[in-house]
Amino acid sequence: MTTPITMEFWSESEADAGRISQRVFDEFDRIDRQMSRYREDSELSAVNRTAAERPVKVSDGLFQVFMKAEAVSELSGGAFDISFGSVGYMYDYREKHQPTAEQIQQNLPHINYHDIVLDKDEQTVFFRQQGLLTDMGGIAKGYAVDRGIDILRAEGIRHARLSAGGDMRLLGDKRGRPWIVGVRDPRNESANAVVLPLSDVAISTSGDYERFFIDENGERVHHIISPKNGRPVKGVQSVTILGTNALTTDGLSTAVFVLGVEKGLTMINQLAGVDAIIIDEQRRMHYSAGLLDPKGGSESE
Ligand code: ADP
Repeated sequence: MTTPITMEFWSESEADAGRISQRVFDEFDRIDRQMSRYREDSELSAVNRTAAERPVKVSDGLFQVFMKAEAVSELSGGAFDISFGSVGYMYDYREKHQPTAEQIQQNLPHINYHDIVLDKDEQTVFFRQQGLLTDMGGIAKGYAVDRGIDILRAEGIRHARLSAGGDMRLLGDKRGRPWIVGVRDPRNESANAVVLPLSDVAISTSGDYERFFIDENGERVHHIISPKNGRPVKGVQSVTILGTNALTTDGLSTAVFVLGVEKGLTMINQLAGVDAIIIDEQRRMHYSAGLLDPKGGSESE
């Protein structure tokens, strides 16, 4: 993974700490080899190559991520859609390359999560159409953070902070005090827009500053793509989601980014135990009901 992974935890000895953190790093590596669309030899790439011909049996982990992606797609009315990759793969943020309007039009019909058929009994994935390409970039890191936390827990760790890029999970508190988590200012890498005291929570941020370039028209071409028009989504600069697990918060942060302030908050306010902080294009901050009034509003605790 190109994303930096950081963790902080307390253990009995230095040797233990080294061994445990290595286990977590190895798990991230394994998941990257499984779910990266940038690796030809990943399980996901094999699915992308063959699932339009026949149902492909996949591993437990990948199937779980496919199922969660489908749930977030349903919940967000298709704002979150892993088949965005059918167009998304044509963007190259390092090379500052974006597809032409014709290329987008040609591939847009391939974005349709309804054409991804998951068979729970057989644990298979089938694509109803050729040309459909899936990309787990909006959800796989959250899955990996959850698996990392599982490892730490199984090792007896009770206080930990584990993050990979925009996804973080806190296990317990910071030994008697809350962890202090900053939500960064989308236009200033070294400043926080807000700082939160937190414990035992997953927190994911999707931002238009993670992977982007400015094109010849001065437009910010970033990595969160509208399934409707195949273009980077406008309207917000960042979305932060708080919840119980990072698989959910990771998927929802991308979904809310695509939905925008109004629809995004409406969706979040209907979910128990989930909250959102949105920073819009005018740099205004918007909070879900549970953060404005923790006792009322959403049922988050
Ligand atoms: P990161 O943690 O890398 O910042 P995010 O959680 O913010 O990632 O999600 C952004 C990623 O989601 C993009 O890099 C891309 O891989 C994927 N993505 C972009 N648009 C969509 C979409 N409409 N639905 C699902 N995934 C998307």
